[in-house]
Amino acid sequence: MHHQDEPPTLETPTDEGVDSLPASVTLDKLPDLVLVSSDRVIFYAHTSRLIEESDNAFNGTLRYNQTTTTNGTSLPVPENADVLSVVLHAIYSKSYYQDKPSLETLLSAVRSLKSYGVPLARVVGPSTYLYGQILAQTPENALEVFIVAAQIDHRELASASSAYLHSLQITTISDETAIQMGGVYLKRFILLQMDRERSLERLLSKPPPPHDECQELQKDVLSEEWTLMASKLTAGFCADLPEGKLRSAMGSIEKVLWCDFCKEALHARIEEITVHWTTMTKVSVQERLKLKICRD
Ligand SMILES: [Zn+2]
Repeated sequence: MHHQDEPPTLETPTDEGVDSLPASVTLDKLPDLVLVSSDRVIFYAHTSRLIEESDNAFNGTLRYNQTTTTNGTSLPVPENADVLSVVLHAIYSKSYYQDKPSLETLLSAVRSLKSYGVPLARVVGPSTYLYGQILAQTPENALEVFIVAAQIDHRELASASSAYLHSLQITTISDETAIQMGGVYLKRFILLQMDRERSLERLLSKPPPPHDECQELQKDVLSEEWTLMASKLTAGFCADLPEGKLRSAMGSIEKVLWCDFCKEALHARIEEITVHWTTMTKVSVQERLKLKICRD
């Protein structure tokens, strides 16, 4: 079937209910293992490859010194075909899915990979295809991703998903979600929200610089109005405070200023604070979460 120079590809029976391994596996050896998914789809694999990739003999299902024949061993697994397909794609480092798996399937596969003792750093590390596929669906499903990341202790994934969780108020987290996150990641999440709050306070702690040539009255008005605005914003703190709301709160101070120099100084400070806040939302917060995790 194959041209001599081509790497061997898997030939699969055409019967219904039989699936192929992630296309064209380029191993020298022919598959010697049949994995049967919970929905009775069969996948061909190499015992040696699975053992090599797993640090627990594929969750104890494959013995290290097992001898198998080409006609092989058949191994029923609890995963359905969609999940098993993603698992095998990851193990065989294949970066293409025939059908785009749902996020639920991808996350189940990650859990399975962990149970099969496959090092997650290799198969779902930040530079992998699987990680990219999960990340693409994270903005709309951040909590779901964060929970799984917490359960498998995947720091990068937890960090990346947490950047989309600013609108999640700690008080609205259900008991069930808290239990799923586990104490350690729940604590990290709470610290992250508190950290956001402190960052906003820090940013707002400096009013625009006083203008020496301005009258005392103008200076006092500016500093009083600024303090009032800052305390209102931080009192009703929400970790995903939108840029527009922040900008308009600070901008409202302009109405009490009559000196152009002071107005300019205010505009400059508004720009500076807004840029800091929005940058933090997507980048620094993730980094800070990582730091926080490392410090624990
Ligand atoms: Zn002035």
